[in-house]
Amino acid sequence: MYKYDPKSLKAEEFINHEEIMETLAYAEENKHNEKLISEIIEKAKQRKGLPHREALVLLDCDIPEKNEEIYALAEQIKKDFYGNRIVMFAPLYLSNYCVNGCLYCPYHAKNKHICRKKLTQDEIRAEVTALQDMGHKRLAIEAGEDPVNNPLEYILESINTIYSIKHKNGAIRRVNVNIAATTVENYRKLKEAGIGTYILFQETYHKESYERLHPTGPKHNYAYHTEAMDRAMEGGIDDVGIGALFGLELYRYEFAGLLMHAEHLEAVHGVGPHTISVPRVRRADDIDPDAFDNGITDDTFAKIVACLRICVPYTGLIVSTRESQKSRERVLKLGISQISGGSRTSVGGYAEPEPEEENSAQFDVSDNRTLDEVVNWLMKLGYIPSFCTACYREGRTGDRFMSLCKAGQIQNCCHPNALMTLKEYIEDYASPETKEIGEKLIEKELLNIPKEKVRNIAREYIENIHSGQRDFRF
Ligand code: SF4
Ligand code: SF4
Repeated sequence: MYKYDPKSLKAEEFINHEEIMETLAYAEENKHNEKLISEIIEKAKQRKGLPHREALVLLDCDIPEKNEEIYALAEQIKKDFYGNRIVMFAPLYLSNYCVNGCLYCPYHAKNKHICRKKLTQDEIRAEVTALQDMGHKRLAIEAGEDPVNNPLEYILESINTIYSIKHKNGAIRRVNVNIAATTVENYRKLKEAGIGTYILFQETYHKESYERLHPTGPKHNYAYHTEAMDRAMEGGIDDVGIGALFGLELYRYEFAGLLMHAEHLEAVHGVGPHTISVPRVRRADDIDPDAFDNGITDDTFAKIVACLRICVPYTGLIVSTRESQKSRERVLKLGISQISGGSRTSVGGYAEPEPEEENSAQFDVSDNRTLDEVVNWLMKLGYIPSFCTACYREGRTGDRFMSLCKAGQIQNCCHPNALMTLKEYIEDYASPETKEIGEKLIEKELLNIPKEKVRNIAREYIENIHSGQRDFRF
């Protein structure tokens, strides 16, 4: 029999199918086991996370009162670790040329009618200027896999271009990168280029389904893809972001896979994933989400987010504009810590809207509001939209970041940083109404900085921002 070994460097061993099947059976058997569920909830209250088996029992639990406790605990952990802050980012699609055959993505190589585009460095400058004019400070760049059209040199040059643009008071201060699995050497080059998080979604952890959904191209290789984060960490990248595309396989399987992947990274590298993303399959050119029969309801989606929040309290959770305003509102409360706003999922499209006949988008956006509308909405819901990028810039990455988190110290940075970056936003980019709400929110939230010294410094920095200075951080 296969032995499950989270420390193994082989994909099929650390994401072990037999272990997942046994975990699913165990959770199914115990979904009404009130005693066990209560014990697991008590354990989760220590805020040290939960292993995948116990996590699955909570996900499957179908005792309504216990589910209420699970949601309440998720909300509490969210408040304790992330307060009312939500970090903002935007995706920037550099190129949709791709040699892979992913059945759920319109960029797959056989799609001959999608418009193929690759931004030139001048076009990137225009896009980044437009993104800075919206108020963004944190980007996630995206590109298909194509060694001829999008070689690593192109990605590196693009990162360099993005960091070099300083338009008015704007700057992109953190570039996260979502590109195909690559070699240790290439990860090292990305690290040297100063990337923030390296993001790669597993899509599905189920090997057989993975191979069926990726029939052609280098991405077909399950092990190479699944072991990518180990190579990234070997290449010196501290912060990695994982995710599964919900709807492709059974959500319970993906949930177990995500947690086992996190446990594996922690066991081998001493630090788990920096973020987990929870995208759902969306409609797009040549893609009908109904063709995938594992779509999940909004309720299941909310339960997944709540259980992730409880099981990996130190890991940021991300939703994109794939989700509607309504769905985002619900999961923000339960655990999401980062969202995108004002996004374009086409190649280009920020500087000038893409003409309809030139559709190059990866998916249809559900939340079409501008960044200002999203910021305004968040504040009205009682959240602080944060444009903070301080940790990465202060070298607080990987295990340094995690140990600060685990010591409860990161909160002393996040809250004032959120207020100072929000102040920059409202000074430079906000509409009059957003500005008014923001000023009041900052005044009120300054009082919630527990340490007097930090509070006084933050107040002084905020006054300095009002006088025209920028880029303060703790
Ligand atoms: S998911 Fe990524 S690798 Fe697959 S077709 Fe789309 S862009 Fe290419
Ligand atoms: S201080 Fe660090 S953890 Fe907190 S919001 Fe800023 S970058 Fe994130």
